[in-house]
Amino acid sequence: MIKRCYYEVLGVERNATEEDIKKNYRKLAMQYHPDRNSGDKEAEEQFKEAAESYEVLSDREKRDIYDRYGHEGLINTGFRGFSGFEDIFSSFGSIFEDVFGFSNGRSRSRTAARAGNDLRYDMKISFMDAAIGLARDIEVPKYETCGDCRGTGAAAGTSPEICRRCQGRGQVTQSSGFFSISSTCPGCRGEGRIITEPCRPCTGTGRKQITRTVNIKIPAGVETGSRLRLRSEGEQGSHGGPSGDLYVFIHVEPHEFFERNGADLYCRVPISFVQAALGATIEVPTLMGNEKLKIPRGTQSGKTFRLRGKGIAHLRGLGRGDQIIETVVTIPAQLNRKQEELLREFAQLSSEQGLHS
Ligand SMILES: [Zn+2]
Ligand SMILES: [Zn+2]
Repeated sequence: MIKRCYYEVLGVERNATEEDIKKNYRKLAMQYHPDRNSGDKEAEEQFKEAAESYEVLSDREKRDIYDRYGHEGLINTGFRGFSGFEDIFSSFGSIFEDVFGFSNGRSRSRTAARAGNDLRYDMKISFMDAAIGLARDIEVPKYETCGDCRGTGAAAGTSPEICRRCQGRGQVTQSSGFFSISSTCPGCRGEGRIITEPCRPCTGTGRKQITRTVNIKIPAGVETGSRLRLRSEGEQGSHGGPSGDLYVFIHVEPHEFFERNGADLYCRVPISFVQAALGATIEVPTLMGNEKLKIPRGTQSGKTFRLRGKGIAHLRGLGRGDQIIETVVTIPAQLNRKQEELLREFAQLSSEQGLHS
């Protein structure tokens, strides 16, 4: 769920040259290429992770931002990574060209089963929701197969015709001398079929935009940058391919009182100088309501107290972090006559010098 370091993903040093980065990326891309790992979700993840890492580290500007501000910095510039394979191939097709012989790295025709795109959903949640977890319905706009034409794109009662130019293969081969060159069929643009009468509801695309309600459960302890993966909630595949996944990226809003460091919770609590000097039992807010905290006699400003197990649940593993309370000793800005008298008497007893009258 936590994003790995891009340098680590590509197995290069932080000062790696562009050549090294490209070399290692190619190696990984070949290893995890979908054509070699059909249907293997693990390989798919590795493939995408490597592509995203390469996209950032091969770009001077993005790499610079990443070096300075990390993943968060890139997200703030609107960087979104890749939604799916098609995205990756259209960005770095040339990297695959010499090995696979096709500019998009895929040797199948366009009518072959294709996995649906992954979707990304950015979700803002409150500090408290992140601390205790929540379940929520979200509305995800996405494309689904058109029900009227069952995705063929052809109007009801008609069906797409096989392209005569390529006999439905989607590719045409031209021979010249010893060479034969295959290219996408211009007659059907590689689809292998031609729609003579398009389906109205989807204008012949075979897909319709819909909004789907998805219930997501966010576990206690998520942080900004946490990512939830909902399998098969992405876009539908085409021609019988599997659906993509839905990724929910979490952004946690700050809290006015609490701050967080991993599973530990920090807060600052004001106490009066009299409470600090004499000791007192005060009430402090915690995630589970107010708690009593004993301040010992002679407590200094900035002293910290730890409430064990009152922090945030560990996202992976058991138990919770601690709550750490820092005391801030406050000095009264105004005194009434009696208070002032007592303070002056106090000063005399401790032989304090140089007081204003
Ligand atoms: Zn349709
Ligand atoms: Zn054709």
